Amino acid sequence: MSDSTGEIKASSTKVCVTGASGFIAAHIVKQLLDAGYHVKATVRSEASRYPYLTSLDGAAERLEFAQASLQDNGAFDDIVADCDVVMHTASPYIVNVKDPQKDLVDPAVQGTTNVLESCAKSARVKRVVLTSSMAAITDEASNETTFSENNWNTKSDLKRNPYYYSKTLAERSAWDFIEKKKPGFDLVVINPFMVIGPSLGPGLNESNKIFADIMSGAYPTLMSVTWGIVDVRDVAKAHVLAMETSNASGRYLVSNETMTMTQVVNHLNSIGYSHYKLPKINLATPFGDKVMKLLSYTQPKGSGSYMRSHIGKDMRYDNSKVKQELGIEFIPAKESIKAAVEDLLKWNHLKSKKAS
Ligand code: NAP
Repeated sequence: MSDSTGEIKASSTKVCVTGASGFIAAHIVKQLLDAGYHVKATVRSEASRYPYLTSLDGAAERLEFAQASLQDNGAFDDIVADCDVVMHTASPYIVNVKDPQKDLVDPAVQGTTNVLESCAKSARVKRVVLTSSMAAITDEASNETTFSENNWNTKSDLKRNPYYYSKTLAERSAWDFIEKKKPGFDLVVINPFMVIGPSLGPGLNESNKIFADIMSGAYPTLMSVTWGIVDVRDVAKAHVLAMETSNASGRYLVSNETMTMTQVVNHLNSIGYSHYKLPKINLATPFGDKVMKLLSYTQPKGSGSYMRSHIGKDMRYDNSKVKQELGIEFIPAKESIKAAVEDLLKWNHLKSKKAS
């Protein structure tokens, strides 16, 4: 895997990427193939269902597929046995679910321990890079705190922001596993915020969907919420760098700039999308915050609890660790937004409209 200088040699390194069909994972697979690595992609269906992966440059020579479901005990044993690094990205990313325990927490937590158990049985796995989330750092915005890798989300539960709860429990279970089992690999964790940008596959990711909703009239009003935006290509790069940087350690908060909903909508207006059904009524005011908090009870449970924990509060974080230790230079948020919208139009997630 690495040469005498400790530098990782792509041509002799095999990386397993779980949930390779996903928005973020597909970009990880692409970047790994571009860099010359061998990749084993775990998916839930036949490889033929993922032409956006099988057609990537280098795929014919260096991409193989394996089928595995997160909650099948031992399903990853054979898969990771011949891999040097495992990037565990697979986890349900859905905000509104019927049964948060069954639909979110169980696959997230059991999936993580299942994959780690298999890695511990392999003599070859040297590092696991886990895709956690900003959700494991905090489930609320705050006017007082500048969030960093030192913060943990202690507030979510099955009722309050259950997706956030699933990510927190999954990451905690990973760190507990390392502490208790002391396996032969180390763990590096990536905690991205709202990941947007071009999608390699046709699926609509929950985070890009926010832009489809903003532009198609699902939000008639502006609310005072602030998002930490990060480009999917940078999140994928952070995973690759977390593998290649031998002294990478701990958690990495991966997010670029924050933007308020008002700034996002102003930007969309300024880059030629003003004829879409963008929110016009301004409720990003102290009075509007009260109205929106009341209205949050009319929303699906996951969205409603998100609104109550974020509306009217600032979001600040410190992303210096990933910049200093992994050398990430982020794509500007405004560029990512433009790329995300162009992508929504390309995949018909947003109807193309001519300006009148
Ligand atoms: P995504 O496109 O929905 O990808 C999720 C992946 O997980 C898919 O490949 C999915 O497989 C797989 N998966 C889900 N449940 C599974 C199960 N029970 N067994 C096997 N595979 C399963 O979402 P994404 O945004 O790329 O998310 C990838 C990771 O990043 C997740 O861990 C998510 O929590 C994290 N994350 C995302 C964001 C964001 O803004 N997008 C931010 C922070 C962290 P199928 O294709 O078969 O459904």
